[in-house]
Amino acid sequence: MDTKSNQLMEQFKQKCREENFKITPQRTVIYKELIRSTDHPDVETLYNRVQEVFPNISFDTVYRTLSFFYDIGVAEIIDGICPTRRYEGNTTKHYHYLCTQCNRIMDFHDIPFDYEIPGQIKNQFSVSNVRIVFEGICSNCRDKH
Ligand SMILES: [Zn+2]
Ligand SMILES: [Zn+2]
Repeated sequence: MDTKSNQLMEQFKQKCREENFKITPQRTVIYKELIRSTDHPDVETLYNRVQEVFPNISFDTVYRTLSFFYDIGVAEIIDGICPTRRYEGNTTKHYHYLCTQCNRIMDFHDIPFDYEIPGQIKNQFSVSNVRIVFEGICSNCRDKH
């Protein structure tokens, strides 16, 4: 594992301890697979990857563990933009590009995230999160036509 993954792993263990969440080998592998995946996998995809290490793990375990990861802030959910709910281990602010044809989600990190919340919203509500998703047809899909 590289330095970044080691750092995330440490952070993860720390969070689990704070939340009294037992760090089991299964949970560790689910997290490891999550941070190794750059494709924003859905539960099914991640379940298949984890199964290669733990053939007997249940879908439900992976499902519930991922929800919990989100609750304690070590995973992000990408919801409502593609047919299935997707997860990622990268919790830093970044932009997403979604290909509406193949449902591939790509990350863009090196763009300042300086979106200004409109006053109309800011004055009435508290805003806890801003998600920005660009949608279109990716170059792979475009080249097929
Ligand atoms: Zn595409
Ligand atoms: Zn992302």
